[in-house]
Amino acid sequence: MNKKSEQDIYVAPNNPSPSRPVIIDGDTCIGCNQCVEVCPRDIFMPSSVKGEPPQVVFSEECWYDGSCVFICPVEGAIKLHFPLMWRVPWKRKETGDYFWVNKNDEKNPK
Ligand code: SF4
Repeated sequence: MNKKSEQDIYVAPNNPSPSRPVIIDGDTCIGCNQCVEVCPRDIFMPSSVKGEPPQVVFSEECWYDGSCVFICPVEGAIKLHFPLMWRVPWKRKETGDYFWVNKNDEKNPK
């Protein structure tokens, strides 16, 4: 082991994971790392390059609370990517409207 490899630490995105809880738009993200700071589960790591988007390293730990999206100063730079099972709506026969079960809405059936 050479001296350089003993000193350098690298972080890489967790690509093999099937979970992708957030999507960061690399073109609009300014790399402010506010999402990194606010995340209650610490799923992000800041980029080693100043101004570059953070990396999602611990995607399975995400709670989907949306704090990263809420705090981001650039609209559309980061968005939640809910698991497929959470994205399937029900459709009303009468109206054709889509709705989600268990959402706090008086229109939804109990
Ligand atoms: S808060 Fe938004 S702009 Fe800042 S690093 Fe995160 S995604 Fe990029």
